[in-house]
Amino acid sequence: MTSFLSDRVLVLQGDITRVQADAIVNAANSTLMGGGGVDGAIHRAGGPAILEACEEIRRTIWPEGLPPGKAVATTAGRLPARYVIHTVGPIWRGGKQGEDELLVSAYRESLKLAYELGCKSIAFPAISTGVYGFPFERSVPLVCSVVREWAASFEKIILVFFSQRDYDLFLSLQTFEEA
Ligand code: ADP
Repeated sequence: MTSFLSDRVLVLQGDITRVQADAIVNAANSTLMGGGGVDGAIHRAGGPAILEACEEIRRTIWPEGLPPGKAVATTAGRLPARYVIHTVGPIWRGGKQGEDELLVSAYRESLKLAYELGCKSIAFPAISTGVYGFPFERSVPLVCSVVREWAASFEKIILVFFSQRDYDLFLSLQTFEEA
C-alpha cells in the first residue's frame, strides 16, 4: 500500500470486494445486469440486493441502459460499504473515439455522486482496463488528474489494483508526485 496527497489517496493491490469504504465503484456494463471481472465479483460478494436495485434503475431511470461516462448508486448489499456506484467506462476503439474523455467522466461522475451522497471514502477498480481494453499505461495520468481534482472533497480515495503488475505499473507511472 502506498499513499499520496497527504494520505488522502491510497493505492493498493487486492480485491475491491474486501475493501471498506463508504462507496465501492463497479466497472459495470450498460445493461447493469452484471458481468465478468470486477462486476461479477461485486455482485457475487454483495448478493442479490445489488442486482435488484440495478433492475429498478433500468425500469425507472435508464430503460436503454446506463451510457458510458455516467454513474448510478445502489445498495452495497453485504459488502462492507454503504453504496456501490456503478459506472460504465469506454470500450477501447483505438483512442480517437472519445475514450479518454469517457474514462475521465466515469471517474468524475462516480466521485461527484459519492460526494453528493455524503461519502467520505470511495474505492475504485481500474475501470475499462480489463475486458474493455483501455491501455493501462494510458489510463494512469488520466486517473491521477481526476483523483487530484477531487482529493480535497474526500478523506480517502482508494485505487485498488487486482494484479501486482498493475499496482507496480501504476506506482511507476503515477503523476501525483514528481519522481
Ligand atoms: P472493464 O470491462 O471496465 O474493463 P474488468 O472487470 O474487465 O472491467 O476489468 C477492470 C479491472 O478490474 C481489471 O484491471 C481487472 O483485473 C480488475 N478486477 C477484476 N476483479 C477485481 C476485483 N475483485 N477487485 C479489484 N479489481 C478487480
